[in-house]
Amino acid sequence: LASRDFHPDNTVIKIKGVEIGGDELVVMGGPCAVETPEQIDEIARLVKASGAQVLRGGAFKPRTGPYSFQGTGVEGLVMMAEAGKKHGLLTITEVMTPEYVDVCAEYADILQVGTRNMQNFDLLRKLGTIQTPVLLKRGFSATYDEFLNAAEYILAGGNPNVMLCERGIRTFEQYTRNTLDLAAIPALQTLSHLPVISDPSHGTGRRELVEPMSKASVAAGANGLIVEMHTDPDNSMTGDGVQSLFPDQFARLMVDLEKLAPLC
Ligand code: PEP
Ligand code: MN
Repeated sequence: LASRDFHPDNTVIKIKGVEIGGDELVVMGGPCAVETPEQIDEIARLVKASGAQVLRGGAFKPRTGPYSFQGTGVEGLVMMAEAGKKHGLLTITEVMTPEYVDVCAEYADILQVGTRNMQNFDLLRKLGTIQTPVLLKRGFSATYDEFLNAAEYILAGGNPNVMLCERGIRTFEQYTRNTLDLAAIPALQTLSHLPVISDPSHGTGRRELVEPMSKASVAAGANGLIVEMHTDPDNSMTGDGVQSLFPDQFARLMVDLEKLAPLC
């Protein structure tokens, strides 16, 4: 079902007037984690003012260590839904377990499957039973074939609204957090009809590389971007402040992107 051989036309996912996978670019911006109502409200205001269409923010955070901040949970979902509604933005948030799929789908417009859960088959199967769009992140050591098979689980369950997200893979390089695989963008679009979104934030782990890799992703044909932005990155509650854009950088990036591709 994920293969272009059996589905020649691009899949276009329509969510409240925003079309993902068509000729226009979608940009999802926001913090790594939803922290407080004030934080997410202010960031939502800035995301909207910059012209992006979707507010990102994690309420359930998959942290490498068990003692790190694990997210604000259902309270975070509520905070983000309110900010999204107030500022007229779609919302995307990560879901980590099958049990939380329904509550996350109640509050968010798009559900994100993180890189660490790309092969959480119970989660994928559960996501196949609903119609809420899913942004499936590539596992950091997954081949294209494994990635498309993970998407296949969701599609096979009956949910056709899947987008693929390249977020960088693990290589020998240490300077960058991950190696953003730009070739994955056109390769996945050749193999599959599903929209492809690029995540230059996790794909590089370095703020100064986000702008060039965003532009490179669009040049490579990405249907959209998911970018971390924070009003106070140095004090963000996850370690991802180092890769988060400042609001003025995000706004400038949006101006530049509009020259490369029309926005939704
Ligand atoms: C995130 O988007 O904040 C995140 C945890 O992403 P990934 O699963 O790609 O590491
Ligand atoms: Mn993050």
